[in-house]
Amino acid sequence: MTKSADTHCPYCALQCAMTLKSPAALTPAPQPGSDPVPATAAAVREAPVALLDVTGRDFPTNRGGLCRKGWTSASLLNHAGRVTEPLLKGADGVHRPVSWDKALELITAAVKDTRARYGADAVGVFGGGGLTNEKAYQLGKFARLALGTSRIDYNGRFCMSSAAAAGMRAFGLDRGLPFPLADLDSASTILMLGSNVAETMPPFVQHLQGARDAGGLIVVDPRRSATAAFTSDGGGLHLQPLPGTDLALLLGLSHVVIHEGLADAGYIEARTAGYDALVRSVASYWPERVQSLTGVPAGLLRDTARRLADGARRGGSYILTGRGVEQHVDGTDTATAAINLALLLGLPGSARSGYGTLTGQGNGQGGREHGQKADQLPGYRKITDPAARAHMAAIWGVPESLIPGPGLPAVQLLKSLGQSDGVRCLFVHGANVAVSAPDANAVIAGLRSLEFLVVCDFFLSETAAEADLVLPVTQWAEEEGTLTNLEGRVLRRRRAIAPPPGVRSELWIMTRLAEALDAPSTFSEDPETVFEELRRASEGGLADYSGIDYAMLDRGEAAYWPYPAGSTGTPRLFRESFAHADGRAVFTPVTPRRRASSPPAEVADGAGPFGTPMTLITGRLMEHYQSGAQTRRVAALAAAQPEARLQIHPAAAAAQGIAAGDFVSISNGRGEVSCRAELSTDIRPETVFLPFHFPELESANRLTEAATDPISGMPEFKFSQVWVRAGAAS
Ligand code: SF4
Repeated sequence: MTKSADTHCPYCALQCAMTLKSPAALTPAPQPGSDPVPATAAAVREAPVALLDVTGRDFPTNRGGLCRKGWTSASLLNHAGRVTEPLLKGADGVHRPVSWDKALELITAAVKDTRARYGADAVGVFGGGGLTNEKAYQLGKFARLALGTSRIDYNGRFCMSSAAAAGMRAFGLDRGLPFPLADLDSASTILMLGSNVAETMPPFVQHLQGARDAGGLIVVDPRRSATAAFTSDGGGLHLQPLPGTDLALLLGLSHVVIHEGLADAGYIEARTAGYDALVRSVASYWPERVQSLTGVPAGLLRDTARRLADGARRGGSYILTGRGVEQHVDGTDTATAAINLALLLGLPGSARSGYGTLTGQGNGQGGREHGQKADQLPGYRKITDPAARAHMAAIWGVPESLIPGPGLPAVQLLKSLGQSDGVRCLFVHGANVAVSAPDANAVIAGLRSLEFLVVCDFFLSETAAEADLVLPVTQWAEEEGTLTNLEGRVLRRRRAIAPPPGVRSELWIMTRLAEALDAPSTFSEDPETVFEELRRASEGGLADYSGIDYAMLDRGEAAYWPYPAGSTGTPRLFRESFAHADGRAVFTPVTPRRRASSPPAEVADGAGPFGTPMTLITGRLMEHYQSGAQTRRVAALAAAQPEARLQIHPAAAAAQGIAAGDFVSISNGRGEVSCRAELSTDIRPETVFLPFHFPELESANRLTEAATDPISGMPEFKFSQVWVRAGAAS
């Protein structure tokens, strides 16, 4: 056992570099089956000494820095609540240990029975953006060849799908940041829309420092988030629009750029297509009208556009988007509007300028490239493309007819659970949909309606608690593999410690099940073997990894895709041409639509039993990651942020008779949540904010709607109408 390794953080897409070392004193291994209850209080009580010391390691993205999630990440390895052997739910609803042989036998029987009674598409797979590239690749192959189903999608649909669709539309290629993160250091101006990196990935902030000190950091957020507050000392700007109006705001900025002569005419002529239609589409978005739509003063709009244009002429300008503007029913169009603005200013592909989107999950970039999406095959290929299907059939050694067609995007997959033509038997890998998916009450009901649910996890998460069978899997420090960070840079994950004896890797599980199900292709439990196949599968695709191997990554070489064999990779995309056939980027005119997200069912004419609804936005806190399934179990994090709190403006609170720290009820037609109120002038008076890391009565996603963007399938997380009133949930 090595017990020392250079690796990367298990959490977000910044993938901060860290070194894991064995400390002098070790604590006992967890007891099988002990305290599997995912309670914050339990996490505080347990607080084991970590098996490994974590230190930040110098790397271009984090430069030795880690956030508090990274510092404490090793404490989950020997957490007393960890699942360390397969658990089978009995008729009494209690999970009890079973052998691996028994677990695999039960799963094989359930899959065969489901396929025989309902067809192969009654088996579904829900993957995750935190899975390694190897797991994501093999999961897509496992679903399509071992299970024979088209029904696979993953939680990146909740995260990156709108920006990815916009990138494909405009550039013909989707890589979150098409340039190294360190390029931001020398920027004069950075416009950041809908991202709170100061809390979600704090080491990122050092890359904003230069623009911030030059007065060029501009943040768009309905809240004065930590990132928005960071602008103030440097003379930057904070634009605070009404939730759901980001698209109108971006159209207004494009209007100003065009009408004040700030556009880069030479760049538009040489490198883009569709300019004239774009000009027409923003004609009616003059600043004063946009002010009335968004609440952002016309003067601030003009100032923002001028600073961006000025920055592009001096040190460089960047436009960055995050989930705040993308998690909407018009998220693809909103990200497209941001790209249109960037193209008008001549930013994408230019020296010291650019557009990018900030991927969130640890392998949110790689997770969307290797085939766990409903509509994709490895190499970022379309599953409907005959050439792509023929290529993958050759790699897998199967007839092309054995590869199913497109499946259902994540929200539709979850809506289908238990339905007559839907999924009856579901595998969940690396996701906690009972907390993280929109309309969580409906999702939980769907999980309970399944005939068989298998969840692979480290803990009895809220989703695992619903499972018929829970399979314990390795954590990041116990496995080898690769991930692709928010820059499109492929990184090595290295094993520092052996997993507990009863724990298996997901590659091992897929391989054993594929054998039991007589899959028509070979599977492997060895990560490097899987990566070698992934390389070949990706060759010639948009996300080409064919020139990357473990040895070069182990030598510390930078590997940005596309990296065809014989090349040196592509740190900066689009310098000469974009990925469309004619080499040009495309302006796509977009306009705001009437929101598909409806008011609460009970509302008539804007009022309801509890008065006028408010707009709920959801988001993250510094201490917690995604559904909180991991970070709620870290004692130091749980102690710092033990519960959800509703951020509400003092004026709105006063109108409801709510004082700071009071319990409040937040409700709509989908559910009711209860937590304490936190009064703050950092939020708009008609808007409230709730973090989505918490389960049950504090679960923000009990209130969000499963309406989706028609292009990307992205749910509407950032716009829900709710009633807020004093008192705990009834
Ligand atoms: Fe980990 Fe992200 Fe924190 Fe870095 S910023 S330590 S990658 S959670």
